[in-house]
Amino acid sequence: MSKITMNPIVEMDGDEMTRILWKMIKDELLAPFVTLNTEYYDLGLPKRDETDDRITVEAANAIKKHRVGVKCATITPNAQRVEEYKLKEMWKSPNATIRAILDGTVFRTPLITESVRPYVKGWVKPITIARHAYGDVYKAVELRVPGKGTAELLFTGENGECFRQTVYDFECPGVLQVQHNKDSSIEAFAHACFSYALDTKQELWFAAKDTISKQYDQTFKRIFADIYEKQYKARFEKAGIAYFYTLIDDAVARVIRSGGGFIWACKNYDGDVMSDMVSTAFGSLAMMTSVLVSPDGCYEFEAAHGTITRHYYRWLKGEQTSSNPIATIFAWSGALKKRGELDGNAPLAAFAERLERACLDTIESGVMTGDLVALCTREDAKAVTSAEFIAAIRTRLEKPV
Ligand code: NAP
Ligand code: MG
Repeated sequence: MSKITMNPIVEMDGDEMTRILWKMIKDELLAPFVTLNTEYYDLGLPKRDETDDRITVEAANAIKKHRVGVKCATITPNAQRVEEYKLKEMWKSPNATIRAILDGTVFRTPLITESVRPYVKGWVKPITIARHAYGDVYKAVELRVPGKGTAELLFTGENGECFRQTVYDFECPGVLQVQHNKDSSIEAFAHACFSYALDTKQELWFAAKDTISKQYDQTFKRIFADIYEKQYKARFEKAGIAYFYTLIDDAVARVIRSGGGFIWACKNYDGDVMSDMVSTAFGSLAMMTSVLVSPDGCYEFEAAHGTITRHYYRWLKGEQTSSNPIATIFAWSGALKKRGELDGNAPLAAFAERLERACLDTIESGVMTGDLVALCTREDAKAVTSAEFIAAIRTRLEKPV
């Protein structure tokens, strides 16, 4: 069988257990079938430190060039990691650096199989969370108010014109917080959500609290509505999908009652909270895929989980671990599928589909990693090591179609 060829994608290697899985996946599930054409960037912590983190910026710029990238989980250093890796500096999160350069929105989608069911029984299709990644409480200015006094909101325009309003006349100590967001960022978020909905042919929901927040959340609602009307409505109707706005509390109730199968766009804080709720309810972080989509149509695929440090320390001692490679495999298949779609490379896209099917069928056959056995409804579910699990997927891939 001749191998499938492809145009380049950006490959970003990472850290710890996921770096081990990364190599296994390439050696066993990709290289035997595809002549992998990747522009390789090592985002492992030692290389980031050696290059003063320039490698991360270079990788992000390469995604802008090739439009498709796949990333392994990486360590975001804290004080303990600075010590452990003898770092020059506490480097920023690579994901944050890449997100800032691509100005992207992250979409997270759980994978569902027959035997690993969500806690919420009605969710028969996945729910994708799209989280706005700029501003609000994450860039707020806060003050612990020490005692009596007046808090005012003051805005000085370019021309010197002032807007001034009393926030509260404090008669006692309290707290104060000022948030902001930008039309440009909200617009980019809206475009990413509408495009992704069209791409995946799923309904789009967006929710905020505009009844209470008559300027702030109203702005989000209005920008989404304007962009939808002017630029997406016709295409949505043609694709047979809908855009739907509601209040955040109503959305939460509807999501629980729903059957899934839509994209839920969330403001920054809502997205933070709701993505943990949704991923937990769907079962396992190891079954959560993640893609960063930029407004100009660049895609970066990754797993939603981290570097699985606790497993890595066991692996270093020579133990075989049962770490789940599914989300990382789907990051690869997602990138290959997107490369195939963008280039009209049908064999590549078809291979990616086949790889995904082989993964899910392997789980369906009762062979899975330990994290899934705990969630599985099958009596005969068997926990195997990562290497055994990947070998079982390979056996399925090698079966003639
Ligand atoms: P984590 O790597 O996601 O792992 C937390 C725990 O979840 C693991 O100890 C394991 O539980 C379970 N788990 C996660 N993924 C799994 C998988 N594929 N298979 C089986 N079990 C899995 O999170 P963390 O330990 O908080 O963070 C470790 C490092 O990852 C940190 O340095 C952090 O900075 C980094 N991180 C990176 C990213 C990213 O690059 N996108 C995201 C998050 C965190 P058990 O030990 O109970 O089996
Ligand atoms: Mg969170």
